Amino acid sequence: MDPTCIFCSIITRDTPGTIVFQDDLVVAFLDIHPAAPIHILIVPREHIASIDHLTNNHEDLIGQMFIVARQLAKAYDIAESGYRLIINSGPDANQTVFHLHLHLLGGRPMRYPMG
Ligand code: AMP
Ligand code: ZN
Repeated sequence: MDPTCIFCSIITRDTPGTIVFQDDLVVAFLDIHPAAPIHILIVPREHIASIDHLTNNHEDLIGQMFIVARQLAKAYDIAESGYRLIINSGPDANQTVFHLHLHLLGGRPMRYPMG
């Protein structure tokens, strides 16, 4: 845990958040500024600053983040209509919170092209 990290603080419930799923590896909560009707952040319990800070030991964790995204898409009834998964890493991607997170966006057609 990083005492200065907002997502660590949500995980420990020191900061309010709408947690929609949790297990040993990951926690998922609603994004405070939703960019789509469904906008959920799936984050590791472990404080990892970004994708760029991953090690080989994180294989199971990364797998679980995507499995949970799929389960939440089903639970929120967007599995068939479709959804977008995004991970921003570093300044050019506009990462603003430096605790790794997977965005699950759905509930409307996504815009294209990306970037
Ligand atoms: P990123 O630009 O990929 O780093 O995305 C960070 C996301 O975290 C943004 O979509 C924010 O709206 C979201 N966010 C920031 N603070 C909070 C918070 N306290 N609770 C929930 N989501 C948050
Ligand atoms: Zn953190």
